[in-house]
Amino acid sequence: MKVPFLDLKAHHDPIRDEVRAALEEVIDQNAFAGGPCVDAFEKEFAAFCGAAEAIGVGSGTEALWLALLGLGIGPGDEVITVPNTFIATAEAISFTGAKPVFVDVSEETYNLDPLLLEAAITGRTRAIIPVHLYGQTADMSAILAIANARSIPVVEDAAQAHGATSEDRLAGSMGMAGCFSFYPGKNLGAWGEAGAVVTDNPELAKEIRKLRDHGQPRKYEHDVVGWNSRMDGMQGAVLRIKLARLDDGNHARRSIAAQYTKSFASCPEIGVPLNAGNTGHVYHLYVVRVRERDRVQNALTSRGVACGIHYPVPVHLQPAYRDLGYSEGSFPVTERCAQEILSLPMYPELSRDQVDYVSEQLLTAISAEESEKMAAP
Ligand SMILES: *Cc1c(COP(=O)(O)O)cnc(C)c1O
Repeated sequence: MKVPFLDLKAHHDPIRDEVRAALEEVIDQNAFAGGPCVDAFEKEFAAFCGAAEAIGVGSGTEALWLALLGLGIGPGDEVITVPNTFIATAEAISFTGAKPVFVDVSEETYNLDPLLLEAAITGRTRAIIPVHLYGQTADMSAILAIANARSIPVVEDAAQAHGATSEDRLAGSMGMAGCFSFYPGKNLGAWGEAGAVVTDNPELAKEIRKLRDHGQPRKYEHDVVGWNSRMDGMQGAVLRIKLARLDDGNHARRSIAAQYTKSFASCPEIGVPLNAGNTGHVYHLYVVRVRERDRVQNALTSRGVACGIHYPVPVHLQPAYRDLGYSEGSFPVTERCAQEILSLPMYPELSRDQVDYVSEQLLTAISAEESEKMAAP
């Protein structure tokens, strides 16, 4: 059996005709940059997140960048985030001119460890970006308590957490702003690049709307130096159709995750995702921890199971961030996780048989490792 890591074709086949009709409508409207589909999607996505406003932008990276710019962050400032994330979180900070400051993650959730947060705050800290990695919200009540006590805004990187919840609050709606990516492989994916910022703060929303459109509140009036980060009309049309199916997709992901976790219950060598506290995980990724990860991954690949590693090299050890002065040992939990994490196939259309097959292959690979160890002198 072959199990791909992600199967976008299976995801899109059932909505092909509906999307085609919606795209025809965009062509008829000549509304390619912004327009009625983007306006409608913004309203629907804001409502989905339980936020007052959503601003559609060009990508998740730009959502983060524009949210920080909208908060007035720039050179001389520091923004705290985690090294265990996709590099975009740090890039967005760097492109404002501010300096990324990293805080290690918790071994249980792979998310920002609130116990380490206070020590990283300085007089220059202007924002904190917790990342809801793999589809599970960070410990927002602890993070917000620390941030609010110092009036530091929290910007959520919710690029992997569309629809995730924390004590009944939705990812993206808990901080000052929430930033989403609609990269095709995300839980809510466009047919191209797109992103959004959601916020309850009308001034911030106004600022981001201005920044994404050349700094103009009205055509050819430029208050500030902005950028072009408008969402495509076609992406708005696709995203409206897919948003209506997001809850079903997340539900399917949760039952696939439950099936994996049940299969691995008898195998303590496989570390399964821990559903910490009250968080509603939406399993953008199902990540296990195993020793000899590379050997296990190769064994799975040879049996037709495609896995991923998110992420093999932590951001603080990337050449791009050498000048921040971090080194190996700076963030031991993140570094240890990077050696052991393995993302198994995860998408709503994965069949029960495919999940069984992946589970069997992983269990076989692990027991091969165990018996090798027993045979060793
Ligand atoms: C995907 C992702 C981003 C960037 O989103 P793009 O739409 O690809 O620019 C940012 N942060 C995290 C955690 C992501 O997974």
